[in-house]
Amino acid sequence: MVAETKFVWMEGKFVKWHDANVHILTHALHYGSSVFEGVHSYKADAGTALFRLNEHIDRFFHSANALSMKIKFTKNELVNAIKELAKKNRLEDGYVRPLAYYGYGPVGIFPRDIKTNVALITVPWEDYYSKDLRIMTSKYIRHSAKSTVLGAKIGGNYANSILAMHEARKKGYDEALMLDEEGCVSEGPAENIFIVKKGVLRTPDSKSALHGITRNSILKISRDFGIKAYEAKISLSNVKNADEVFFSGTATEIAPVIEVDGKRIRDGKPGKITSRLKAKFYEIVRGKDKKYKSWLTYIC
Ligand code: PMP
Repeated sequence: MVAETKFVWMEGKFVKWHDANVHILTHALHYGSSVFEGVHSYKADAGTALFRLNEHIDRFFHSANALSMKIKFTKNELVNAIKELAKKNRLEDGYVRPLAYYGYGPVGIFPRDIKTNVALITVPWEDYYSKDLRIMTSKYIRHSAKSTVLGAKIGGNYANSILAMHEARKKGYDEALMLDEEGCVSEGPAENIFIVKKGVLRTPDSKSALHGITRNSILKISRDFGIKAYEAKISLSNVKNADEVFFSGTATEIAPVIEVDGKRIRDGKPGKITSRLKAKFYEIVRGKDKKYKSWLTYIC
C-alpha cells in the first residue's frame, strides 16, 4: 500500500498526488532510462531532518550524468524544492525520492531529442522498522564495471536486484546476497553488507557494490568509536563464519543479518557491535549527537 501525500513536485511545480502521471510512451517506462535517489527523513529534536541530503543530491547528478541526462535544475534548486515539498506534505519519518527520467518520445532505445524530466516524491514511513534478516546467496551476480557505470543509480540496473529479490522471496528468505564477477561478496539488492570478526569491521571493496552513503557513515562512526573498520575483499565463507553480519542502506538503515543460506550467524542474534552502531546511528539521525550535525539538513 502506498502512503499517499498531498503533493508531488514535477518539473518545478507542485501537483496533486493523483495528477502526478506520465504518458505511456515515456522512454524510461520502456527502457529503464531513469535515475533516482532515496533520502531518509527523520523526526529529530529540532524538526524534520534529511540525512546526508547533499551527498544524495551529488550522487543524483552523478547518475544523471552517466545517462547523459541534462537536469535543468541546479543542486541548490533541488535541495530547496525538497525542503518545500517536505514541508507542504508535513513529512516527518519518511522517505524522499528524487527521480529523473527520459520522458515522452518516439519508440526506440536511443533517447535522441527526448527531454529529461525531474520529479520529487515524499512518502511517510511511520511504521518502518528494520528487522533481523535471513538472506541467501543469489545466482544472479552484480553488474560489472564492464556492463554499466558503477556508482550510478540507474533505474534499468535494478532489474538485476529485482531478479535476486524474487529468487530470495520465492525461497522464503528476506533478502538476497549478491556476488561480483570474481565470486567475491558484493552487496544486497539495495544494501551494502558489513561483517564483524574479532571486533574488526569489514565491508567489501568490490567495485560492483554501490559505495553507499550509509556505508560511508558507518565506517566513520566505527572509526570514531575506535573500532577498526576497513574495506577488503570478502568471501562467502568470511560472511558465514563472521561473528556479526549486517546490511546497511538508506531504507534498511542498519539491519542485522542472522542467517545466510540456512547457516546461523553465531547464535542467530544481533551482535554487540551491530547493536552499538545501530544505537549511535539513531542518535545521530534524530539530532541527538551534535558532533554529526553536519549530516542533517532541516526542512525549515
Ligand atoms: N547498494 C545498492 C545497489 C543500493 O541501491 C543502495 C541504496 N541506495 C545501497 C547499496 C545503499 O546505499 P545508501 O546507503 O546510499 O542508501
